[in-house]
Amino acid sequence: MKCAEAKSMFSPYLDGAVTGNQMHSLGLHLDHCSDCHREYALLRQTQELLASVGRRKAPTDLALRLRLAISRKPPRPSVRPSRDCWFVWIMRCVPSWSQRRLGWLSP
Ligand SMILES: [Zn+2]
Repeated sequence: MKCAEAKSMFSPYLDGAVTGNQMHSLGLHLDHCSDCHREYALLRQTQELLASVGRRKAPTDLALRLRLAISRKPPRPSVRPSRDCWFVWIMRCVPSWSQRRLGWLSP
């Protein structure tokens, strides 16, 4: 196994997402390659440190602060259709026979 391949397996190895053969090959490589062994040890320490920190609890007033922040946000400007848009919309809604009757389409 080459160093690049070994390094690409560090994270899956720590997650237990490698096969037995991959685990064995990586173990052999780590036994004989001091660079990879050192890098793997650092990654494992980092993972252990992160796991020891645990998850922080959200502040109890987070929901209130979010609601306040949202209520203070200015409303988005409404998008009003232009006059031409309204005309097209009305023409689509009014049946064509009504338009003829009202004289909208008469020549
Ligand atoms: Zn190596």
